Amino acid sequence: MEKEFDVIVIGTGPAGSAIAESSSEKGRHTAIIDSRGYGGTCPLRGCNPKKVLASATNLIAKNKRMQGKGLRENSTIDWKDLIAFKRTFTEPIPEAKEEGLQNAGVTTFHGKARFIGENKIQISDQILIGDKIVIATGANPTAMPIKGEEHLTYSHDFLELDHLPEKLIFVGGGYVSFELAHVAARAGSEVHIVQRGEQALKEFNPDLVDQLIKQSEAIGIQVHLNTAVHAVEKTDNGFTVKAKKDGEMVKLDGDLIVHGAGRVPEIEDLQPDKASVQYDKSGITVNEFLQSVSNSDIYAAGDVAATNGPPLTPVAGLEAEVVTENLLKGNREQADYIGVPSVVFTTPKLAMAGMSEQQAKESGKNIEVHDIDVSGFFTYKHTNEPAAAVKIIIDQDGDQIIGAHLMSDEADELINYFAMAIQLKLKTADLKKVTYAFPTAVSDIPSML
Ligand SMILES: Cc1cc2nc3c(=O)[nH]c(=O)nc-3n(C[C@H](O)[C@H](O)[C@H](O)COP(=O)(O)OP(=O)(O)OC[C@H]3O[C@@H](n4cnc5c(N)ncnc54)[C@H](O)[C@@H]3O)c2cc1C
Repeated sequence: MEKEFDVIVIGTGPAGSAIAESSSEKGRHTAIIDSRGYGGTCPLRGCNPKKVLASATNLIAKNKRMQGKGLRENSTIDWKDLIAFKRTFTEPIPEAKEEGLQNAGVTTFHGKARFIGENKIQISDQILIGDKIVIATGANPTAMPIKGEEHLTYSHDFLELDHLPEKLIFVGGGYVSFELAHVAARAGSEVHIVQRGEQALKEFNPDLVDQLIKQSEAIGIQVHLNTAVHAVEKTDNGFTVKAKKDGEMVKLDGDLIVHGAGRVPEIEDLQPDKASVQYDKSGITVNEFLQSVSNSDIYAAGDVAATNGPPLTPVAGLEAEVVTENLLKGNREQADYIGVPSVVFTTPKLAMAGMSEQQAKESGKNIEVHDIDVSGFFTYKHTNEPAAAVKIIIDQDGDQIIGAHLMSDEADELINYFAMAIQLKLKTADLKKVTYAFPTAVSDIPSML
């Protein structure tokens, strides 16, 4: 049986569910589909569960460095309890999310959606026809063309582990690897990160990344740069990772090998060709209005859309607003990605917003880089932080911050102020005039400008 809708949304993550809810509330007969639990990656398998674990291990780190400075009892992680606590956040999501959408008038479907025509979607034996269709299917771990790929564990499995293995090897040096590696190391495991290229965390400032690697090594994480994994073999006791570094064979044994080699848009199963939807490995090809360039009834938002926005939840939210406007009122809105912040939730944390140092240098602007070791500031000394640094890039002609790069335990909250300054094009003179609460990390901002 065929069912007709004004709007069909594929994917219930931050992008899809926001679009479906707004579309229904604005009077459009709307359907939404998901092949997994409702809610998407961020609240179920990404940001939130990861942050529960990272915050607990961050407390361990804080506690440890205050030993002999007023704190006495050293705490440890009870992994089973921590995972149970994490589940109190993740388990209620699918039902609550679906109920919320239904309360907003959205018709909900379960199953894998695939196109069978320009405006037609099939889910098992049901066929849906939409005037407009939104693809918001997110991303999946990148396929790794290595022997023994089937032995890899994914980040979503790591977040469900009932027992933390003694020795873990992360393949790939992106933010998911670093975050989970810090969690595992602080919880007592031996941890290795194997990164093919010479720079890990390549979206972030290389000098600050080097400092984070030193801090990672100080807690026992072994970071193997320029080391290309070509096979994972099952052994009697676990697995062996085979890699090459400078032409030499490297072998590492581990109980669990975790895929941390990035994610790619989840498209293939959708059969986009059947709806004449153009795409490539960076996602669904869209114009500035996030509309498919080859089928004007189709829009895309979030991780699956090939845009300049990084694959992060706030960007999925931003693109959802843009798509909702364009879908309901005609193409009028465009996304502005300038100053979107990004954080690696390690201890210390790494954060950035705006231009990289290299982009700023190549931009032709009259820039000044404030490269400051802030570890001597009271903010970091009073909790005995071993390392803290900032690089603030200022366009001197406009008196505006155009890039901010931070590494410290406060970096995740602090970066939001820099993101605000970049996005709202605030003058550094004005930021210096503000009276801030003291002693707080934010009250250091004038000293960084
Ligand atoms: C471990 C990890 C940690 C992360 N941490 C952060 C963080 O700290 N901060 C941050 O901003 N971002 C983080 N992210 C990224 C963030 O989760 C994503 O950017 C965000 O969820 C993207 O939202 P989305 O709506 O585009 O897609 P998703 O949230 O991925 O939702 C897509 C949905 O579509 C469904 N789907 C896919 N194909 C089909 C199909 N054919 N039929 C039906 N349904 C389908 C999927 O099941 C999924 O539920 C993290 C990601 C991971 C993996």
